[in-house]
Amino acid sequence: MEKYAEESFKTGWESGKHTLHNIGANVIELHYDNQVAAEFAKDHAADLIVGLDETTRNMVRSTIESSVKEELPWQDIKTQLVDSYGFSESRAETIARTESAIVYNQGFIQVAQESGIVDSVTVSDGDGDEECASYDGQTWTLEEAMDNPISHPNCLREFEYNLKETADEGE
Ligand SMILES: [Zn+2]
Repeated sequence: MEKYAEESFKTGWESGKHTLHNIGANVIELHYDNQVAAEFAKDHAADLIVGLDETTRNMVRSTIESSVKEELPWQDIKTQLVDSYGFSESRAETIARTESAIVYNQGFIQVAQESGIVDSVTVSDGDGDEECASYDGQTWTLEEAMDNPISHPNCLREFEYNLKETADEGE
């Protein structure tokens, strides 16, 4: 089960970066900019972690921000949290996975909002817990997705873009 979770998360990391869509003959690429996710990290990373003093919280936040900016995988964030701040392995892993899932998903939605061509998203989730299983396959507005990037620590939620109809596009 642990292995499965790790695989899924890696896939999300890959697909979160670049998404290619086909609209008829047109291929539109929405480029995922890590800068967008890094901005979310700068403003909000580590907000939800309990039991941190302000100094540690700021250090963790900047670790996540710079790691996201450099496209480092969550495993690297985990290592930094263990080595630099003395977090336990399991706590560091939860923080690294959860925090990067939040900022990458929010960045993913922001790219959609700015593109103007994404209508909604389809939720991919259901990583073994009841609540998330019910979200799997649902269609959410971009606002809903932005407000709910994940539902719980270690959540494996991903979004897929549903593009707007392009009927009015010139030939
Ligand atoms: Zn979940």
